[in-house]
Formats: sequence, structure tokens, C-alpha cells
Amino acid sequence: MLSTLSLLLVTTAMSVVMLLVLSSLADSKLAGIREWGQANAVAIPALLLFAARGILPDLLTIELANAVFLGTSTLMYVGFRRHLGQPVPWRMLAAGAAAAWSGVVVFHLGHESMPLRIASVSAYHSALCFGIFASVPAAREARLRYAYRFTRTAALLLGVGHVCRGLYYALDAYRPVLLPPDTANLMFFAIGTLALPALTLGAVMMANARVIADTSYAADHDYLTGAPSRRAFFTLAERELARARRKSSGLGLLLVDADHFKRINDTYGHGVGDQVLCDLVARTQGVIREVDYCARLGGEEFAVLLPDADAASALAVAERLRAALDRPARDAASPQGVAYTVSIGLAMLEGGESIGELMQRADRALYGAKTAGRNRVVCAPIQGAPGVPGVPLPGG
Ligand code: GH3
Ligand code: MG
Ligand code: MG
Repeated sequence: MLSTLSLLLVTTAMSVVMLLVLSSLADSKLAGIREWGQANAVAIPALLLFAARGILPDLLTIELANAVFLGTSTLMYVGFRRHLGQPVPWRMLAAGAAAAWSGVVVFHLGHESMPLRIASVSAYHSALCFGIFASVPAAREARLRYAYRFTRTAALLLGVGHVCRGLYYALDAYRPVLLPPDTANLMFFAIGTLALPALTLGAVMMANARVIADTSYAADHDYLTGAPSRRAFFTLAERELARARRKSSGLGLLLVDADHFKRINDTYGHGVGDQVLCDLVARTQGVIREVDYCARLGGEEFAVLLPDADAASALAVAERLRAALDRPARDAASPQGVAYTVSIGLAMLEGGESIGELMQRADRALYGAKTAGRNRVVCAPIQGAPGVPGVPLPGG
């Protein structure tokens, strides 16, 4: 038969399990994990003290147990704030916990009333639950949405549950005899104890979702420039290829390679070379159209995918890009800036061609641009037709 004692022991076991699960996430170094772990670690002695009511002295099972359990909920809230990069309102938390604990002491040692003790701690717990609900935003990122929604819903329901629990006991405060442990008592007791595992479950889901989101972001983006990675480029290129086939629209590809980049590194140092690569990406993103997609393929080589483009508009984008990059990088270490140029190979998707074949033709065009003197755009020839000539440097 379910009793308050069995609920306390089940919750204690759940805190141990949650602690083990959170420990497995410790290596992720995510903010909040430490506080959530501490909350569950602190909950174990608190729950055991509650369970020892009638065996150990009341000062331990009421004053100490409640003080520790108030700390548990506070740590859970702090964990959510930290995880979400939000400031922790320490003073407000200290004042709230002190007020709730004073209620416990007053309604034990002063005017003995268990219902008012419960109402007092429930008021603080409900405020923390609503605080968690308000802190966890409605996630825009699809990977985070389920975990955030779960936590927000759990926090809201638990907050409402604690309000009901507090009101129920506060209104019953003047009954001469305490209610026997009937269904209502057990239900409200469950809200008090199961809140911690429910919120920890939300915390674990949020941490997992964050790890997955961060890992896939890292796989899909270049660490130095923030541009999409080679992997992300090929995924998107396949999608755009299928779309171009479906809609019979044009798809252009630019392969962009910095000229004599080794010289830049040798002259100014690797750090300045890195800055030039970041400058190249920033300027490229400022020049290309909203629908175009710039990715770093590796080293000083970049790809720009041009969906819905015909040969003329693709050439216009390529030439605009070449000209925009033919200016010194503004924020590089040298006072007059670091001058660099790029060579660009352009290829337009042809019927039945794969992304690999399109890349090969663009690469050959890039090679043509390099051998023709660099700082120019060369278009890959359309099968059976001569290539569009490269656009030479003014005076080059
Ligand atoms: P070309 O005009 O023929 O392309 O000559 P290049 O010097 O640009 O080409 P090369 O392939 O000889 O050298 C590429 C250089 O790019 C060598 C490599 O050290 C440098 N590089 C590759 N990745 C990075 C990076 O992330 N940061 C910096 N600073 N340099 C890089
Ligand atoms: Mg190069
Ligand atoms: Mg290269």
C-alpha cells in the first residue's frame, strides 16, 4: 500500500538514479549540471531525515530536513538559471528560503501547526517552480524544443500543484486534529517529493538536447570563420541539386581560393592569416544574395552555392565577389591592412550531373583562373561549348 514513507523512499532512490545520470553528463562541462547534481545529492539526506520522523528527534526531521530540502529546490532553480546563462538572484533566494524556514520554526516551536509549516514551504517551492517556468524560454531551435517544453510544463504544473497544496493546508490550519493520511494528503505529499525528480528529468533532457545541438553545430560549422563546414555544404548541395532538378532551375557553384595565401602567412604570421580568412567569409556573406550559401571547404578554399541562378547572374555574383575581396582586410594587424585577392572557378549545373562532377568542373575552372594569373573569375565550359573567358583585373 502506498504511504508517505514509501513515497519518500522511492524519491530518495530516484534522486540517487538522477545523480548517476547527471554524473554521466559531468564531462560535458555544461553550466547547471553541477548545481542539479548538488541538488539531488543534498536531497538524499533530507528525504531520509523526513522518513525518519518519529525515530530521530523533531529538530532533525523537521527543522534540519526542511532547511536542507529548501536548499535542494534552490539549487535546482540556480542550475536552470546558470544553464541558461541568466543571473542568479541570490538575495531574493536567500530571503525566500529564510522566510519559508522561519515559518517551519515558528509553526513547530512557537505555534505548533503542521499544515502551516507545509503552507510555508509550499509557498517558496511554488515560487521557485514559477521562477523555473519563467526562466526557461520557449526554444526556437528545433532540437531543444521538446526538452524545454517538457521542463516548462513540469515547472508550471508543479508550481500550480504547490499553490494548491499550500492553500489546502493553510485553509485547514485550524482544524483541531490533523487529517488522516487520505488520498488528498498522499497526493499533495507526492507533489512535494516528486517535484525534484520531475524537474531533474527536465534538466537532463535540456542538457542532452544542448549537447546534441552544440555537437551538430560544431560539425556543421567551421571553428575559425563560423562559416558552414564542408559536411554541411555537401548536405545542402545535394538538397539544392534535387530542388534544381525538380523545378528545372539553374544552380551555380563558385570555388573561391585565396591567392598566394602562404605568402600572407609567411609575411604577417598565421594569426593575421586567420583574420584574413574571417574577413573573406564576412565580406563574402555581405556580397552574395540571401539565398546563396558560402561554406569553407578547407584551408583557404571556399564554395559558394548559387540556387536559382543562370550563367549570367552567377557570373555577376562571382565578379562582384572577386572585386569586393580585392581590397585590404580592414581589421588585420597591419596599419594599412593586408591586401589579398581570390581566384574563382564557376560552373553551372548541367543535366544528369552529380555534385561531385559539378565540383570537378568548377575546380578545373579555378585552376584555369590560377594559371591565367589569379585574381579573376573563370567559367567552366558548357559541354561542347567554349568557356566564358575570365574577367581580368583592371590593368591585370
Ligand atoms: P595559390 O594562389 O596557388 O592558391 O597559393 P596559396 O599559397 O594560396 O596555396 P597553397 O596551397 O600553396 O597554400 C595554402 C596555404 O594556406 C598554406 C596553409 O598554411 C594556409 N592555410 C590553410 N588553412 C589555414 C588556416 O586555417 N589559417 C591560416 N592562417 N592559414 C591556413
Ligand atoms: Mg590559395
Ligand atoms: Mg588552396
